[in-house]
Amino acid sequence: MIVQTLHTSEMDNNTYWLTDPSTGLCAVIDPGFPSAELTRLADEAGKKLQYILLTHRHFDHVGAAAFYKQRTGAKVCIHAKDACGLSSGFFSLAGANVPSHPLTPDYTISEGDRIRVGESIVTVLETPGHTVGSVTFWCDGDLFTGDTLFRLGAGRTDLPTGHYEQLLASLKRLAELRGDYRVLPGHGKPSTLDVERAMNPFLSEACRS
Ligand SMILES: [Zn+2]
Ligand SMILES: [Zn+2]
Repeated sequence: MIVQTLHTSEMDNNTYWLTDPSTGLCAVIDPGFPSAELTRLADEAGKKLQYILLTHRHFDHVGAAAFYKQRTGAKVCIHAKDACGLSSGFFSLAGANVPSHPLTPDYTISEGDRIRVGESIVTVLETPGHTVGSVTFWCDGDLFTGDTLFRLGAGRTDLPTGHYEQLLASLKRLAELRGDYRVLPGHGKPSTLDVERAMNPFLSEACRS
């Protein structure tokens, strides 16, 4: 899978554009905000954009999902326990900036789901803790960790449905995956799982617990 990172400065968010090299079919992870670059990619892809994959409910990850779904017809995928964030500014934490086009997901996703994008497979790992429906998307050598795991950090657990022990269990789970992976988080710089295993204090705590 070819991965392009689109960075938006507002909240240091990362949106990831995935292209299957053999078919040109695409998926996008966490389109939180519309951007000129993302709109250009979406317009170029048109119906080849198959899925809008959402790591969790927060507005800075789901905020532009309706816009790009309407533009391309792509199917929106989110864990059932976080789907409320697509239709409610209360649950997405957008507050008054309630999405103008409330969405129901086309697919609710859960542990072990395999989402086919051309010849490539995106696998769903449930990693609750930041929110109850947080997931990590795993594709080839990449982990798209949303707000679960950041470079040398981890997601906050003081927001609704956040749960620190659950987050530690999710981090432990990621740490115990076999081999090394690129870590592509929802905010900030990329990392690798080996670097996080060695340096991330939350992963260290998770693996001690
Ligand atoms: Zn979040
Ligand atoms: Zn976030």
